[in-house]
Amino acid sequence: MADATRTMCARCAKKVCSPLIKADETPPVDTAPDFCPMKLMPDVIESAMSEYRKPEVSEFARLASIQEFECYEHTPDGMRTKNPRILELIQFSKKNGYKKLGLAFCGGLAREAQMLTDILENKGFEVASVCCKVGAVPKETIGLQPDEKIDGPDNYESMCNPIAQAELLNSQNVDLAVLLGLCMGHDTLFIKYCRVPMTVIAVKDRVTGHNPLAALYLSSSYYARLMAKEK
Ligand code: SF4
Repeated sequence: MADATRTMCARCAKKVCSPLIKADETPPVDTAPDFCPMKLMPDVIESAMSEYRKPEVSEFARLASIQEFECYEHTPDGMRTKNPRILELIQFSKKNGYKKLGLAFCGGLAREAQMLTDILENKGFEVASVCCKVGAVPKETIGLQPDEKIDGPDNYESMCNPIAQAELLNSQNVDLAVLLGLCMGHDTLFIKYCRVPMTVIAVKDRVTGHNPLAALYLSSSYYARLMAKEK
């Protein structure tokens, strides 16, 4: 199952990269498995580290890790988490001095987009938002057949337009683009064309309340067919 030709952190039981040692000790990298990226591709990691030496990247990474740190608190009962992601979005945007946020949302989550806009505006942000159906371009334009339309062959159906969403937010110079519930693949196109910093507040999952990991947690029980090997 495991080999030394590709990185396989997901199969690693050692987690030498995150050792339980004191701050002045050295991680025992030599004991990592053969498929460890630190053994297989140290030059790639070194090249990545050189990026952090750029001042703007270094500062962004520092703020991201402070954001991470602030999501935990130590109590007499031990450490616990405290910040939902929406609060993190607000906190991290303020840390970075962002004023204008761009919301790229799915038409199926229009109500959520409105609520999120209310929250962000109440916290002092300017919010530009773009629905996935922007442009009102019929799906036939990208080659869909009438019987491949969700609402049926006789109805007009606008295509999801993630490239236009990205370009509209690019052209409004938003400080941070926020993805809310774009479809699989449409999100990929948005990410490809987005030229401003971006983050994801939620991914689409039509059957789990936009919580894809719910199916994963059930993959050994009620959703066992997910784990079944394909022949
Ligand atoms: S980086 Fe190496 S030690 Fe860390 S999880 Fe991956 S394989 Fe394991």
